[in-house]
Amino acid sequence: MKQVHNFSAGPGILPPAVLRQAQEDLLNFEGQGMSIMEMSHRSKTFVQVIEKAEADLRSLMEIPSHYRVLFLQGGAHSQFSMVPLNLMGEGEKAVYLDTGIWSQKAIREARKFGQVEVLASGEASGYRAIPSLKEAKVDPSAAYFHLTTNNTIYGTQVQAWPDTSIPVVADMSSNILARKYRVEDFGVIYAGAQKNMGPAGMTLVIIREDLLPARRTPLPLMMDYALHAEKKSLFNTPPTFAIYMAGLVYAWTLQEGGVATMEKRNQAKAELLYRFLDQSTFFEGRCEAGARSLMNVCFQTPAPETDTRFIAAAESAGFANLKGHRLVGGMRASLYNPMPMSSVEALVSFMEEFEKSAS
Ligand SMILES: *Cc1c(COP(=O)(O)O)cnc(C)c1O
Repeated sequence: MKQVHNFSAGPGILPPAVLRQAQEDLLNFEGQGMSIMEMSHRSKTFVQVIEKAEADLRSLMEIPSHYRVLFLQGGAHSQFSMVPLNLMGEGEKAVYLDTGIWSQKAIREARKFGQVEVLASGEASGYRAIPSLKEAKVDPSAAYFHLTTNNTIYGTQVQAWPDTSIPVVADMSSNILARKYRVEDFGVIYAGAQKNMGPAGMTLVIIREDLLPARRTPLPLMMDYALHAEKKSLFNTPPTFAIYMAGLVYAWTLQEGGVATMEKRNQAKAELLYRFLDQSTFFEGRCEAGARSLMNVCFQTPAPETDTRFIAAAESAGFANLKGHRLVGGMRASLYNPMPMSSVEALVSFMEEFEKSAS
C-alpha cells in the first residue's frame, strides 16, 4: 500500500490502530453477526458503545458531572445557530471574539437571533495575530462570550481571554483533545469530530447543566439542547458509526496517555516545524510567534509560484494535503493528534532539500 504523510486540515488523519480495529469489527461487531452500522441505536450493544464513548471522553477531559455530553449531527456549523438559539434570550446580546472565518460565520449566524457585540477582531492583521485583549472587558450583562480556540485556516490559537462571570462558549473543532483545557472554564464546548476525534458525521457538545433550561421556546426540535440532553443523544437516530469511531479514537487517546501526552507530543511536533521555519531564509511562517497554533502550521515561500511548485513536489514525494486554505494561500501542515513525529521530521527534511535546490 502506498504510504502518505497526511497533513489534511479536515477531515484529518486517524490513528492506524483505530482504522484496523474498525476493519476488524466491520462485518461482525462483537459477535453480533452484523456491523455496528446495521443495528438499532436503541440496541443494548449500541447503547454500550455510546456510553463507553462518553465515559472515555469524560475521563480524557475530566468533565465534571454537572456537564452534559451530547453527540449530535450538523457539524460545527449547526452549533453556530444552536448556541444563540439556546442561550440568547429575547432582547439579549452575546459577545464574540473575531479570530477569523469560523468566528465570523458564528457571528453572522448569531446576528440572526439577537444582538452581537464583537469584543475584538484580528481582521486588520489578516488574522496573523490574535487581537490584544489586555484592555478588553466582557459585558457581564451579555448572555455568553464566544471564541474559537484554534483557527484552523489561519494557523493561530487563542492563548487567553478576559475573566468573565458569563458563560464562555468555545468552538474547539480543531484543537479539542490536543491540549488541556479546564472544562469548568466554559459554559459550552463544541467541536465537529473530523479534526481530532474521528470521521465527519458527529458533532460534540459539552454543556453545563444549568444552561440547558435557559432557552427560548419553542425551538426546532433538532436545535434544542435540552431535548437532546433529556434523551441522552438518542432522540432521533444518531450518527451511530461516527460515534463508534469517535469512541475508538477516545480509547486510543486514553491508551496513549491521554490529553497530557497528546499536548506534549503536539508541542514537540509544532516546535520542530516552527523552529525550521524560523531559521529558513526561504520558507516563512505566516503568523505572529505568540499566536501560533499547535495544530495547523501555515507557511509560505517567497512567491505564490514557488508555493505551487513546492506543493506539487511534496505531493509526489508522499506529503498529502499541504495546500493552504483558498482564503489564505501558501501551505498548511495540520498536525492533529494521530500525526506521528516521524512524519513531521520527514516533512522538515523534504523542506530542507527543497530550499537547497531552490536557492
Ligand atoms: C472545521 C471547522 C468548523 C466547521 O466544521 P463543520 O463540521 O464543517 O461544520 C468550524 N470551526 C472550526 C474551528 C473548524 O476547524
